[in-house]
Amino acid sequence: MKIASAQAFRLYDFKFDDFSLDDEGSLKACLRMFLDLDLIGRFHIEYEVLCRWLLSVKRNYRNVTYHNWRHAFNVAQMMFAIITTTQWWKVLGELECLALLVACLCHDLDHRGTNNSFQIKASSPLAQLYTTSTMEHHHFDQSVMILNSCGNQILGNCTPDEYSRVISVLEDAILATDLAVYFRKRGGFFAMVKSKQCDLNWEEVREQVRGMMMTVCDIAAITKPWPTQKQVAELVAGEFFEQGDIEKQELKITPIDMMNREKKDKLPVMQVGFIDSICLPVYEVCICLLYIVVSCKIWA
Ligand SMILES: [Zn+2]
Repeated sequence: MKIASAQAFRLYDFKFDDFSLDDEGSLKACLRMFLDLDLIGRFHIEYEVLCRWLLSVKRNYRNVTYHNWRHAFNVAQMMFAIITTTQWWKVLGELECLALLVACLCHDLDHRGTNNSFQIKASSPLAQLYTTSTMEHHHFDQSVMILNSCGNQILGNCTPDEYSRVISVLEDAILATDLAVYFRKRGGFFAMVKSKQCDLNWEEVREQVRGMMMTVCDIAAITKPWPTQKQVAELVAGEFFEQGDIEKQELKITPIDMMNREKKDKLPVMQVGFIDSICLPVYEVCICLLYIVVSCKIWA
């Protein structure tokens, strides 16, 4: 099977969008990311197993408005673009690159189009299982389930040490995509970067950096050119309004403005609020971090 180059797929492009790709194209682009990061060779991943695993991951995304396979694919492309164009892959090393790429592709597995607070309000079985980061724990469980399924074991040729390390990085990375976790951790992280006291030889520091990278990639639609950004924002709003509709009709509660169709005039204001309070701070701090790493010449 011929897989086009990363260049041909525009995988290094920070303005990337997947609009012109069909599902098969998105899967081939994933194969290209694994090939170019040399993960297949390094971890002795069987090609057929990788193909089957990718198909299983895609199939375990539901056909919801926003949190579907295409969102996961776009998040993975942004991670690939970042770690290749900045040469961060050298800082992270092969194992963390593998875990992060898997994390991006799996981080919203089996999303139902409703958020954590909905699970609690609806007392869903998942909320009874996990009281915090409910959906993220579920996304991680689903990832492990697929990784352990017959014919899908892309980590099957890892040593036991490598396997447990990949799973541990994967878990932290997926749990970090809960914005509540981002809010809890960002104060310490921002202070650390601003004081330039971030020694990447420390695992705790690396974990925090990886977590921030996951957030950076997860919300990266906001960094895209206006037509792309607008289209994605409409999908997000669409999914939120659908949750709001269920809250009104089934739970008989008034949804928050962000999820209330009747408040859609407030969307632009809320979008600007989202950019100012969540997006801009994380992109600013990552620029600082990149500058520190470059000036330390860690990978020279
Ligand atoms: Zn996501």
